[in-house]
Amino acid sequence: MRRRDDIFLDPKLIEFHRGSARASRAVFGALAEHTVRSAGRRPVQPRRLRSPHALACERDFGCDTLVEMESADWINLSEDELLEKKIRQLGLKLEGTEWDPLVKQLYDELTAKGLSFHPPCFVGDEWFCPVGIPAIFVPFFLVHERLRRLERKMVLEVEGETKEWFMRLMRHEAAHAYSYAYQLYKKKKWQQTFGLASTEETEFYRPRPYSRSYVVHLDDWYAQSHPDEDFAETFAVWLTPGLDWRERYRGWNAMQKLECVDALMRSIAGNPPVHQPSFRVADYD
Ligand SMILES: [Zn+2]
Repeated sequence: MRRRDDIFLDPKLIEFHRGSARASRAVFGALAEHTVRSAGRRPVQPRRLRSPHALACERDFGCDTLVEMESADWINLSEDELLEKKIRQLGLKLEGTEWDPLVKQLYDELTAKGLSFHPPCFVGDEWFCPVGIPAIFVPFFLVHERLRRLERKMVLEVEGETKEWFMRLMRHEAAHAYSYAYQLYKKKKWQQTFGLASTEETEFYRPRPYSRSYVVHLDDWYAQSHPDEDFAETFAVWLTPGLDWRERYRGWNAMQKLECVDALMRSIAGNPPVHQPSFRVADYD
Protein backbone atom coordinates (compact mmCIF):
# COMPACT_ATOMS: atom_id res chain seq x y z
CA MET A 1 0.00 0.00 0.00
CA ARG A 2 2.69 2.44 -0.86
CA ARG A 3 1.42 5.73 -2.09
CA ARG A 4 2.54 6.39 -5.61
CA ASP A 5 0.21 9.20 -6.50
CA ASP A 6 2.62 10.48 -9.11
CA ILE A 7 2.09 7.29 -11.08
CA PHE A 8 -1.60 7.07 -10.43
CA LEU A 9 -2.20 10.56 -11.65
CA ASP A 10 -0.57 9.81 -15.00
CA PRO A 11 -3.50 8.79 -17.21
CA LYS A 12 -1.23 6.97 -19.66
CA LEU A 13 -0.06 4.61 -16.99
CA ILE A 14 -3.58 4.12 -15.69
CA GLU A 15 -4.64 3.33 -19.24
CA PHE A 16 -1.93 0.72 -19.41
CA HIS A 17 -3.74 -1.19 -16.77
CA ARG A 18 -6.32 -2.15 -19.32
CA GLY A 19 -3.89 -4.66 -20.73
CA SER A 20 -2.88 -7.96 -19.33
CA ALA A 21 -2.66 -7.84 -15.60
CA ARG A 22 0.22 -10.26 -15.73
CA ALA A 23 2.16 -8.15 -18.19
CA SER A 24 1.37 -5.03 -16.29
CA ARG A 25 2.65 -6.52 -13.08
CA ALA A 26 5.83 -7.61 -14.80
CA VAL A 27 6.51 -4.21 -16.29
CA PHE A 28 5.31 -2.11 -13.44
CA GLY A 29 5.94 -4.40 -10.54
CA ALA A 30 5.95 -1.67 -7.98
CA LEU A 31 2.85 -0.10 -9.42
CA ALA A 32 1.03 -3.40 -9.53
CA GLU A 33 1.95 -4.06 -5.96
CA HIS A 34 0.59 -0.68 -5.10
CA THR A 35 -2.58 -1.11 -7.13
CA VAL A 36 -3.62 -4.46 -5.77
CA ARG A 37 -4.92 -3.98 -2.32
CA SER A 38 -5.24 -6.51 0.39
CA ALA A 39 -7.42 -4.70 2.88
CA GLY A 40 -10.81 -6.20 2.96
CA ARG A 41 -12.47 -9.36 1.86
CA ARG A 42 -10.53 -12.57 1.80
CA PRO A 43 -11.74 -14.90 -0.92
CA VAL A 44 -12.07 -18.58 -0.14
CA GLN A 45 -9.05 -19.10 -2.34
CA PRO A 46 -6.74 -16.53 -0.78
CA ARG A 47 -5.16 -14.05 -3.07
CA ARG A 48 -1.42 -13.95 -2.96
CA LEU A 49 -1.00 -10.65 -4.66
CA ARG A 50 0.65 -8.57 -2.06
CA SER A 51 4.36 -8.68 -1.48
CA PRO A 52 4.68 -11.94 0.40
CA HIS A 53 5.77 -12.01 3.96
CA ALA A 54 8.21 -14.82 4.44
CA LEU A 55 6.70 -15.18 7.86
CA ALA A 56 3.26 -15.41 6.40
CA CYS A 57 3.98 -17.91 3.66
CA GLU A 58 3.41 -20.85 5.92
CA ARG A 59 0.82 -19.37 8.20
CA ASP A 60 -0.43 -22.10 10.41
CA PHE A 61 -1.49 -20.42 13.57
CA GLY A 62 -4.45 -22.72 14.05
CA CYS A 63 -2.51 -25.96 13.87
CA ASP A 64 -2.32 -27.89 17.08
CA THR A 65 0.89 -29.65 16.23
CA LEU A 66 2.98 -26.57 16.66
CA VAL A 67 4.22 -25.40 19.98
CA GLU A 68 3.77 -21.74 20.71
CA MET A 69 6.84 -19.87 21.79
CA GLU A 70 6.83 -17.32 24.51
CA SER A 71 7.65 -13.81 23.36
CA ALA A 72 10.87 -13.93 25.30
CA ASP A 73 11.90 -16.98 23.27
CA TRP A 74 11.66 -15.46 19.82
CA ILE A 75 12.36 -11.76 20.11
CA ASN A 76 16.06 -12.49 20.33
CA LEU A 77 16.15 -14.76 17.29
CA SER A 78 18.07 -13.61 14.23
CA GLU A 79 16.00 -12.35 11.30
CA ASP A 80 16.63 -15.54 9.35
CA GLU A 81 15.58 -17.65 12.29
CA LEU A 82 12.49 -15.54 12.84
CA LEU A 83 11.50 -15.78 9.20
CA GLU A 84 11.47 -19.54 9.52
CA LYS A 85 8.82 -19.38 12.21
CA LYS A 86 5.13 -19.75 11.58
CA ILE A 87 2.89 -17.02 12.88
CA ARG A 88 1.10 -19.25 15.31
CA GLN A 89 4.38 -20.29 16.86
CA LEU A 90 4.92 -16.74 18.00
CA GLY A 91 1.90 -16.92 20.28
CA LEU A 92 0.68 -13.50 19.19
CA LYS A 93 -2.44 -12.01 20.71
CA LEU A 94 -4.16 -8.66 20.45
CA GLU A 95 -5.10 -8.77 24.10
CA GLY A 96 -2.77 -6.69 26.19
CA THR A 97 -1.25 -4.86 23.23
CA GLU A 98 -1.56 -1.17 22.42
CA TRP A 99 -4.22 -2.16 19.89
CA ASP A 100 -6.53 -3.73 22.41
CA PRO A 101 -8.04 -0.36 23.48
CA LEU A 102 -8.63 0.45 19.81
CA VAL A 103 -10.64 -2.73 19.35
CA LYS A 104 -12.73 -1.57 22.27
CA GLN A 105 -12.95 1.86 20.64
CA LEU A 106 -14.42 0.25 17.54
CA TYR A 107 -16.98 -1.52 19.71
CA ASP A 108 -17.82 1.78 21.42
CA GLU A 109 -18.28 3.48 18.06
CA LEU A 110 -20.65 0.72 16.94
CA THR A 111 -22.56 0.93 20.20
CA ALA A 112 -22.85 4.69 19.82
CA LYS A 113 -24.61 4.04 16.52
CA GLY A 114 -27.01 1.63 18.19
CA LEU A 115 -25.26 -1.41 16.72
CA SER A 116 -24.92 -4.30 19.14
CA PHE A 117 -22.72 -6.71 17.19
CA HIS A 118 -19.05 -6.50 18.09
CA PRO A 119 -17.05 -8.45 15.48
CA PRO A 120 -14.46 -10.73 17.08
CA CYS A 121 -10.85 -9.90 16.19
CA PHE A 122 -7.94 -12.27 15.59
CA VAL A 123 -4.30 -12.09 14.53
CA GLY A 124 -3.75 -13.02 10.88
CA ASP A 125 -1.24 -12.40 8.14
CA GLU A 126 -2.87 -9.21 6.86
CA TRP A 127 -5.92 -7.02 7.26
CA PHE A 128 -8.95 -8.96 6.12
CA CYS A 129 -12.38 -10.34 6.82
CA PRO A 130 -12.94 -13.87 5.49
CA VAL A 131 -15.72 -13.97 2.91
CA GLY A 132 -18.93 -14.94 4.67
CA ILE A 133 -17.41 -14.80 8.15
CA PRO A 134 -18.16 -11.83 10.43
CA ALA A 135 -14.70 -11.59 11.98
CA ILE A 136 -11.79 -9.21 11.65
CA PHE A 137 -8.17 -10.27 11.21
CA VAL A 138 -5.43 -7.84 12.21
CA PRO A 139 -1.95 -8.47 10.79
CA PHE A 140 0.62 -10.16 12.99
CA PHE A 141 3.30 -7.57 12.37
CA LEU A 142 1.42 -4.96 14.33
CA VAL A 143 1.46 -6.75 17.63
CA HIS A 144 5.17 -6.55 18.44
CA GLU A 145 7.80 -3.90 17.77
CA ARG A 146 10.28 -6.50 16.54
CA LEU A 147 7.79 -7.61 13.88
CA ARG A 148 6.97 -4.02 12.95
CA ARG A 149 10.67 -3.39 12.30
CA LEU A 150 10.89 -6.51 10.17
CA GLU A 151 7.77 -5.59 8.21
CA ARG A 152 9.08 -2.10 7.59
CA LYS A 153 12.35 -3.51 6.34
CA MET A 154 10.68 -6.03 4.02
CA VAL A 155 7.62 -4.14 2.79
CA LEU A 156 8.76 -0.57 3.50
CA GLU A 157 5.65 0.28 5.48
CA VAL A 158 3.62 -1.11 8.35
CA GLU A 159 -0.02 -1.01 7.35
CA GLY A 160 -2.12 0.45 10.14
CA GLU A 161 0.77 1.33 12.45
CA THR A 162 -0.70 4.60 13.70
CA LYS A 163 -3.83 4.72 15.80
CA GLU A 164 -5.67 6.80 13.23
CA TRP A 165 -4.69 4.43 10.41
CA PHE A 166 -5.53 1.40 12.53
CA MET A 167 -9.03 2.73 13.21
CA ARG A 168 -9.62 3.49 9.54
CA LEU A 169 -8.84 -0.12 8.71
CA MET A 170 -10.90 -1.42 11.64
CA ARG A 171 -13.97 0.52 10.51
CA HIS A 172 -13.47 -0.77 6.99
CA GLU A 173 -13.19 -4.40 8.11
CA ALA A 174 -16.12 -3.96 10.50
CA ALA A 175 -18.23 -3.12 7.46
CA HIS A 176 -17.47 -6.48 5.87
CA ALA A 177 -18.24 -8.21 9.17
CA TYR A 178 -21.59 -6.43 9.35
CA SER A 179 -22.38 -7.22 5.75
CA TYR A 180 -21.96 -10.91 6.51
CA ALA A 181 -23.46 -10.91 10.00
CA TYR A 182 -26.67 -9.31 8.79
CA GLN A 183 -26.53 -10.60 5.21
CA LEU A 184 -26.77 -7.00 4.03
CA TYR A 185 -25.22 -7.73 0.65
CA LYS A 186 -28.25 -9.86 -0.20
CA LYS A 187 -30.68 -6.98 0.31
CA LYS A 188 -32.16 -5.38 -2.78
CA LYS A 189 -31.37 -1.87 -1.57
CA TRP A 190 -27.72 -2.81 -0.98
CA GLN A 191 -27.45 -4.32 -4.44
CA GLN A 192 -29.19 -1.39 -6.12
CA THR A 193 -26.83 1.02 -4.41
CA PHE A 194 -23.48 -0.76 -4.50
CA GLY A 195 -23.90 -3.51 -7.10
CA LEU A 196 -23.58 -7.25 -6.71
CA ALA A 197 -21.19 -8.62 -4.12
CA SER A 198 -20.69 -11.52 -6.49
CA THR A 199 -19.08 -9.21 -9.02
CA GLU A 200 -15.84 -10.84 -10.05
CA GLU A 201 -12.79 -9.48 -8.35
CA THR A 202 -10.04 -8.35 -10.63
CA GLU A 203 -6.39 -7.85 -9.92
CA PHE A 204 -6.55 -4.28 -11.04
CA TYR A 205 -8.98 -1.46 -10.95
CA ARG A 206 -8.75 1.90 -12.63
CA PRO A 207 -9.71 4.55 -10.13
CA ARG A 208 -11.17 7.85 -11.21
CA PRO A 209 -9.59 10.22 -8.71
CA TYR A 210 -12.17 12.95 -9.20
CA SER A 211 -15.27 10.76 -9.05
CA ARG A 212 -17.89 11.98 -6.63
CA SER A 213 -19.79 8.73 -6.79
CA TYR A 214 -17.56 7.14 -4.16
CA VAL A 215 -16.44 8.18 -0.71
CA VAL A 216 -12.71 8.57 -0.05
CA HIS A 217 -11.48 6.75 3.04
CA LEU A 218 -8.50 4.42 2.59
CA ASP A 219 -5.84 5.30 0.03
CA ASP A 220 -6.08 4.76 -3.70
CA TRP A 221 -9.80 5.45 -4.05
CA TYR A 222 -10.28 1.93 -2.80
CA ALA A 223 -14.09 2.21 -2.80
CA GLN A 224 -13.88 1.98 -6.58
CA SER A 225 -12.30 -1.46 -6.56
CA HIS A 226 -15.38 -3.63 -5.92
CA PRO A 227 -19.01 -3.28 -4.70
CA ASP A 228 -18.06 -4.87 -1.35
CA GLU A 229 -15.26 -2.37 -0.90
CA ASP A 230 -17.56 0.47 -1.93
CA PHE A 231 -19.92 -0.54 0.86
CA ALA A 232 -17.06 -1.01 3.34
CA GLU A 233 -15.59 2.39 2.62
CA THR A 234 -19.00 4.05 2.80
CA PHE A 235 -19.76 2.33 6.10
CA ALA A 236 -16.37 3.39 7.47
CA VAL A 237 -17.05 7.02 6.63
CA TRP A 238 -20.54 6.75 8.13
CA LEU A 239 -19.10 5.25 11.34
CA THR A 240 -16.23 7.70 11.83
CA PRO A 241 -16.86 9.80 14.94
CA GLY A 242 -16.88 13.53 14.38
CA LEU A 243 -17.09 13.21 10.61
CA ASP A 244 -20.13 15.13 9.42
CA TRP A 245 -20.65 13.03 6.31
CA ARG A 246 -23.77 14.95 5.30
CA GLU A 247 -21.65 18.09 5.14
CA ARG A 248 -18.46 16.47 3.78
CA TYR A 249 -20.27 14.76 0.92
CA ARG A 250 -22.91 17.39 0.20
CA GLY A 251 -23.57 17.45 -3.52
CA TRP A 252 -21.74 14.16 -4.12
CA ASN A 253 -23.49 11.18 -5.72
CA ALA A 254 -21.86 9.18 -2.93
CA MET A 255 -24.39 10.79 -0.60
CA GLN A 256 -27.07 8.30 -1.65
CA LYS A 257 -24.71 5.50 -0.68
CA LEU A 258 -24.18 7.06 2.72
CA GLU A 259 -27.93 7.50 3.14
CA CYS A 260 -28.36 3.85 2.16
CA VAL A 261 -25.87 2.75 4.84
CA ASP A 262 -27.59 5.01 7.36
CA ALA A 263 -30.98 3.47 6.58
CA LEU A 264 -29.64 -0.10 6.59
CA MET A 265 -27.93 0.39 9.93
CA ARG A 266 -31.01 1.95 11.46
CA SER A 267 -32.97 -1.10 10.31
CA ILE A 268 -30.71 -3.48 12.21
CA ALA A 269 -30.01 -1.27 15.25
CA GLY A 270 -30.26 -3.30 18.42
CA ASN A 271 -30.75 -6.56 16.54
CA PRO A 272 -28.48 -9.58 17.01
CA PRO A 273 -26.66 -10.94 13.93
CA VAL A 274 -28.64 -13.27 11.70
CA HIS A 275 -25.58 -15.11 10.42
CA GLN A 276 -22.79 -16.25 12.71
CA PRO A 277 -21.36 -19.44 11.29
CA SER A 278 -18.89 -21.36 13.38
CA PHE A 279 -15.39 -21.30 11.95
CA ARG A 280 -11.85 -22.19 12.78
CA VAL A 281 -9.27 -19.45 12.63
CA ALA A 282 -6.95 -21.96 10.96
CA ASP A 283 -9.33 -22.22 8.00
CA TYR A 284 -8.85 -18.57 7.16
CA ASP A 285 -5.21 -17.96 7.78
ZN1 LIG B 1 -12.37 -4.45 2.27
